[in-house]
Amino acid sequence: MDNIFIPKKKEPIEEIKGYTIKYGNIVEDGKVIDEVLVSYFKEPKSYTTENMCEINSHGGNIVVKKILELCLKNGADLAEPGEFTKRAFLNGRIDLAQAESVIDVINAKSEKEVKAGIKQLKGGLSKEISDIKQEIMDVMVNIEVAIDYPEYDVEEVTNNQIVTMLDSVEEKLRKLESTFDNGKLIKEGIKTAIIGKPNAGKSSLLNRILKEDRAIVTEYEGTTRDTIEEFVSINGIPLKLIDTAGIRKAEDEVEKIGIYKSKEIAKEADLIIAIFDSSKPLSNEDEEILEIIKDKKSIIILNKIDLNQKIKKDDERLKIVSNCIIEISALNNIGIDNLYEEITKLFALNQISFDNDIVITNVRHKNLIHKAIESINKTKNTLKEKMPIDIVAVYIKDILEDLGNITGEFVTEDIINEIFSKFCLGK
Ligand code: GDP
Repeated sequence: MDNIFIPKKKEPIEEIKGYTIKYGNIVEDGKVIDEVLVSYFKEPKSYTTENMCEINSHGGNIVVKKILELCLKNGADLAEPGEFTKRAFLNGRIDLAQAESVIDVINAKSEKEVKAGIKQLKGGLSKEISDIKQEIMDVMVNIEVAIDYPEYDVEEVTNNQIVTMLDSVEEKLRKLESTFDNGKLIKEGIKTAIIGKPNAGKSSLLNRILKEDRAIVTEYEGTTRDTIEEFVSINGIPLKLIDTAGIRKAEDEVEKIGIYKSKEIAKEADLIIAIFDSSKPLSNEDEEILEIIKDKKSIIILNKIDLNQKIKKDDERLKIVSNCIIEISALNNIGIDNLYEEITKLFALNQISFDNDIVITNVRHKNLIHKAIESINKTKNTLKEKMPIDIVAVYIKDILEDLGNITGEFVTEDIINEIFSKFCLGK
């Protein structure tokens, strides 16, 4: 660094106090490349726990590239994706679950996801897992005594202790595992399908939602070619709108999305918004739509209330399939707020746990928790079969290992590399 950075107030970079910023020039062969600010983070109080510095230049492609070249020429290496966070993990500043939450926070598409990520980054999940592990360890100590000093005959007591501990740990893990359904919704968005017969107003509603200021929209390539999935965050609740491309492009009459397509889209949805043209009596096609949504979480929209209404909110045929019926005019922007309110209400239960509890959003964590529960059940079987205590101990160690994998105590290098390869550069 001393080779390329000349601070205004001359002092070697290592002597600069941590958490300070120095003004100076980046130079090459005595020539000034740019005027910069260098922030210095002294070990161990840095992101990676190592000595780090950041160069703030004026920016611009040429200058930045030049500074980067100079750094590389003078012994720096380019960081790999996620390298900073990986180093923070390998140096023990954060555990693996915390490191994984960094990527969740960066990639978050809604406020709820950020909240879940930050909670995990602050060690919420890690603390819970370490408490559970401690509970197991406390019993393990007695088991070790029983193994090492069989003459003390503590086996009976230990067996009872083991059963109580296993029950308690299993309950906690099941509770954690059950949060994954919500976690998945936070992470992947509530898969939402807008369906309805041609001309009911699907694309008009979609455009309303997407244009709305409060909806933060991100566009994604859909899983099949030619589809676009759009992420909207409505009052902080993430919705993933399925096949928005299909709805949008269906402008010409022939291409309009038909009932068959609606059925396909509805199959994979967590929430269906079924839209009806209320200025016309309920048609056979509408009845088919009602049939599609009857066993699903759905909101019924009666559109075009600016026209003469032929279908009303209190229609029994609607009421038996959904208890959430909203009247709107997509064209005139009437009633859209009510739709948002209903969506918020529909997922309000989840909201409570989003905000207060630890929510598992990562499938790796969920699988390990599940594996730990299986290991608990195997241990219970060894007890039922009156296996010797040292065999029981082996099974209990499996539970500890499953849990330890969450926080990264025993994970292999392959898994670590795979996790960090998903990071972006510079993180
Ligand atoms: P889709 O086939 O279901 O996507 O329906 P569109 O959104 O393309 O709408 C079909 C037609 O109904 C268009 O001419 C829209 O302008 C019209 N339309 C949509 N919403 C309303 C509404 O609330 N009131 C009235 N009067 N017309 C509407």
